[in-house]
Amino acid sequence: MQTSNNKINKTASVKNNTGFDNNHPPEPKLIDSCVHCGFCLSTCPSYRVIGKEMDSPRGRIYLMDAINEEEIALNKSTVQHFDSCLGCLACLTTCPSGVEYDKLIAATRHQVTRNYARSFGDTVIRKLIFSLFPYPDRLRILLFPLLVYQKLGLSKFFRATKLLDNISPRLAAMESILPEITFQSFQDNLPDVIPAQGKKRYRVGVILGCVQRLFFSPVNEATVRVLTANGCEVVIPKSQSCCAALPEHQGETEQAKTIAKHMIDSFAGTGADYVIINAAGCGHTLKKYDDILADDSEYKKKAKDFAAKVRDAQEFLVDVGLTAKLFPLSDQSLNVVYQDACHLLHGQKISIQPRQLLKQIPGVSLKEPVDAAICCGSAGVYNMLEPEVAEELGKQKVRNLLSTGADLIASPNPGCSLQIKKHLQENIIDIMHPMELLDYAIRGKKL
Ligand code: SF4
Ligand code: SF4
Repeated sequence: MQTSNNKINKTASVKNNTGFDNNHPPEPKLIDSCVHCGFCLSTCPSYRVIGKEMDSPRGRIYLMDAINEEEIALNKSTVQHFDSCLGCLACLTTCPSGVEYDKLIAATRHQVTRNYARSFGDTVIRKLIFSLFPYPDRLRILLFPLLVYQKLGLSKFFRATKLLDNISPRLAAMESILPEITFQSFQDNLPDVIPAQGKKRYRVGVILGCVQRLFFSPVNEATVRVLTANGCEVVIPKSQSCCAALPEHQGETEQAKTIAKHMIDSFAGTGADYVIINAAGCGHTLKKYDDILADDSEYKKKAKDFAAKVRDAQEFLVDVGLTAKLFPLSDQSLNVVYQDACHLLHGQKISIQPRQLLKQIPGVSLKEPVDAAICCGSAGVYNMLEPEVAEELGKQKVRNLLSTGADLIASPNPGCSLQIKKHLQENIIDIMHPMELLDYAIRGKKL
């Protein structure tokens, strides 16, 4: 690719030695597959909000190429454009040339982590996130102080006064999506093995997630009940930790590898036919373990075998077919809008299956929002690291969901649910995981 394109940010074009290292830089072959047509710009959420070429897929590909060619440096001016990418992968779906932007941005993020010195404040907030979020045991220790914090009304106080926004917008963003801590958050009461109801069809492993198991434990419980009601024996290895999505998406190479290996070891010997996950971002990463551990001679094969067994819960249920009878969720018909999570829709190409399942529930009528394929701004920890862009995307998403007139939002990812909940504010509309809706329908429980 010619990198003399005049659209490259000239402030970034100082040639120096600070660039990518030789450890898997963004592949020139993949970069060259971009024909610069610009089709991807219209569906790129960062470009839509920021409005600059360098915050679009095409612009970032120019930057990667120019850094590869040592024409510009990996510095504050260039890194800001990589940081502004949500990793939503909408450009993968839109690109007519099949440019593998996911591989390009993943390689770039790992390079940035290794070769760019972030500011003190940026380093501290990232260290805080990466030393806490992927470790459910550490997060669990924080639950009690957070419960006290909420019970004392401090959360309401900070949200109402916006005091934290002036001190640290990122801290304020973290606070603003903190879910309500309940006594259920302290329980971890799913047994190791749960028998299938009726004739056993499969033995499946279930991944609990880190945020999911603490703040959305009813979703995990619902998933297990739906699976067992449909003839699955469920096995839950308690040694499992995080899936590695957060460190992998932010280029924390070694941390992601260590966590992925731990997950593989946790499920070794369980005899599971499939490994089921109910969170979109986690599923996408779990299916990429063979890429994450491609250079590890000991785990390469194990990672490939593990990844081949991973299924999103909705994908799995449509594949094997529901055997449990479903009952109406309400005495009246129920309008449900399904919120596409990017790592399901663009990352795993799963969009029909959740809709098929929801439509099987008697009385459910599905609504489609405008811009269903555009990110809600959550994007893992993006809403904490880039709060301004995330804020705008969150508002747009909620506006589009509400304008369908739906009674309820079905959201298949904890991050999206938190982001949407934040922006729903005073709008009284429930948000539930599709697995919870199926669970209610199987048990004949009304909303
Ligand atoms: S749509 Fe694809 S080929 Fe066209 S500019 Fe975007 S990434 Fe490049
Ligand atoms: S991953 Fe999303 S935010 Fe990043 S370039 Fe692609 S469409 Fe834009």
